[in-house]
Amino acid sequence: MALPLPISPCTKRDGISCLSCEHFEYASTMATTLLAPVKTERQILEHSMSEDDPNANIQLPSVIGSQPRWGPRHRGAQELAELYSPGKRLQEWVCVVVCCTLCVCAGLLMARHIRADASLLVAAIAGVLTADFASGVVHWAADTWGAVDLPLIGKNFLRPFREHHIDPTSITRHDFIETNGDNFAITIPVLARIVWQLLSCDDVIVNKEFNWIAYWYLCCIFVAMTNQIHKWSHTYFGLPTWVVCLQEWHVILPRRHHRIHHVAPHETYFCITTGWLNWPLEKLRFWSTLELIIEALTGCKPRADDMKWAQK
Ligand SMILES: [Zn+2]
Ligand SMILES: [Zn+2]
Repeated sequence: MALPLPISPCTKRDGISCLSCEHFEYASTMATTLLAPVKTERQILEHSMSEDDPNANIQLPSVIGSQPRWGPRHRGAQELAELYSPGKRLQEWVCVVVCCTLCVCAGLLMARHIRADASLLVAAIAGVLTADFASGVVHWAADTWGAVDLPLIGKNFLRPFREHHIDPTSITRHDFIETNGDNFAITIPVLARIVWQLLSCDDVIVNKEFNWIAYWYLCCIFVAMTNQIHKWSHTYFGLPTWVVCLQEWHVILPRRHHRIHHVAPHETYFCITTGWLNWPLEKLRFWSTLELIIEALTGCKPRADDMKWAQK
């Protein structure tokens, strides 16, 4: 049986001006653009490491060259891993201990001020969104600009970002300190201010400011947890069920979602806390517009250092 043919969007009908047809075409193009996947399954398969098999680091026959393009055997990945120093390790330990202490103190001091109302929920969600956006900005800046040979920040801060693109599952072999040291460090000044405020201000002021305190506290917790969440998004075996549930419900960064970032040349989906902002930022062309502006002003090419390490 022949199926009825759909009416072409621009078929002229009696009494209908072609203006409505144009509107239809425009709306249909908009819908196609908005609904189009950011990366296709084929792009993900051909241009990123297969993480379902994290230790074998399988590469498709079409992308195998004389050197491995990613994984722990990649020469650049090995060189970057060797730059992790004992001094850096000590700094990470100190930051983890200080951050955890401040987090527990702030939580205990906040407990007696908590009251259930909608404004507190809004403040908490805004805190999580801010953490997601901050993770995107820091990740984008570190992936896109600067070089490992820059003094101070190169080896200590940019190195893990370069290593992560050419050996994405190295993060799954890092322990708690190496995974979380830098993110815990960022939150220390804000958590210290919260503890100081809770200890030094009287209850009336704390109650008045409590939504702001909750906003910053939740933001710090999610910023601190960002790289742990990121590590879970690369872990395909042995994750606790509650973590998998949080990923499936998209409360934290889901595994399939983060694979879109790991498609070379790693130019989108930079938010790695919840990933809630990735789709809207991509559709707004937020990162590519920023890169065009910076390149026009400075002449620096985005991801030049990242490409250099990938080609080692
Ligand atoms: Zn990246
Ligand atoms: Zn990643």
